[in-house]
Amino acid sequence: MGKLLVTRSSMPPIDEYMEEIQELWDTHWLTNMGVKHRKLQEELKSYLGVSNVELLTNGHMALELTMQAMNLHGEVITTPFTFASTTHAIVRNGLTPVFCDIRPDDFTMDVDKIESLITDQTCAIVPVHVYGNICNVEEIEQIAHKYGLKVIYDAAHAFGETYEGRGVGTFGDASCFSFHATKVFHTIEGGAVCFADEEFGLNLYRLKNFGIRGPEVVDGVGANAKMNEFCAAMGICNLRHLGGELEKRKKVAERYRSHLEGIEGIQLNPVQQDVKQNYAYFPAVFDEKVYGASRNEVFEKLAEKGIGARKYFYPLTNTYDCYHGKYDARLTPVALHISKRILTLPMYADLAMEDVDRICETIKECRK
Ligand SMILES: *Cc1c(COP(=O)(O)O)cnc(C)c1O
Repeated sequence: MGKLLVTRSSMPPIDEYMEEIQELWDTHWLTNMGVKHRKLQEELKSYLGVSNVELLTNGHMALELTMQAMNLHGEVITTPFTFASTTHAIVRNGLTPVFCDIRPDDFTMDVDKIESLITDQTCAIVPVHVYGNICNVEEIEQIAHKYGLKVIYDAAHAFGETYEGRGVGTFGDASCFSFHATKVFHTIEGGAVCFADEEFGLNLYRLKNFGIRGPEVVDGVGANAKMNEFCAAMGICNLRHLGGELEKRKKVAERYRSHLEGIEGIQLNPVQQDVKQNYAYFPAVFDEKVYGASRNEVFEKLAEKGIGARKYFYPLTNTYDCYHGKYDARLTPVALHISKRILTLPMYADLAMEDVDRICETIKECRK
């Protein structure tokens, strides 16, 4: 039996990609907002149902430059139950992360705990639609409005999702997507920011291109985060096949559920009301006392059989070595509890049903 990784990148048919990049050999225009960049930008605007999309080199730069383009100072309320990028983007902007706990059922920011964390230094809220679970966007909007805060969603897990028929990228002041090879939709490496405010968009556009305003004017301390033509072409191809990929992911998720749903001591991702899901991840929380096996035992047992699950997200970002002594993870007890018990199982479009069966049998064998 071959090894299984937690994810496997989708690839378009090679001929299709070759055809898409063919004209780059005629034009010799390889980066700096060329035809593929503009085409993908337009297609994503319509696919995501948003008014503006800026394409970038990766999801991390999307977060980092969004915060810079908003000229934020002070404290940012965020979640520690996320990928390194979310917290690092805040810190690398010279901002102070203030960690809010998460909900035990869908792992998103617990909106009832936001207001008590707001001070006169607070400038923004950076929540994460973790595993594609949509945050309580209504409540977050109300709080942000009441206190005059910016809202930047880390939507890296939520590509293509809708809530009450609205594209997830339309919530908040900006939503940041990752198009990394491991994500539901990818451009090899890549990312995007969706937003409504045109002036913010202009700032962001300049920051991704060294802060250049015109041929002789550089008035921003920008970075270089332009998506190149080969990555954009990959995105154009992948977007064509996304519908089919999502259908396959849905079948994988259903197969997992048919095995694991209702087992005492295993908590699965909730199915949220009014959300069109993207089946990006398949997390499961193991309660050792009830289930009879710990997350780590299940992880080890799967690894022995060549099945690569991931302890995602463990450790919490507020316990990272690089932040040693700075934050107190005891202040986010639910996140701490979940991070010690959660495992994301292999999930990708081409995962075979027999493999899902084998993974679930292995999980069941762990019970003492
Ligand atoms: C993948 C990811 C990012 C970073 O995206 P890259 O494109 O890899 O830079 C940020 N936040 C979350 C939650 C992610 O999963």
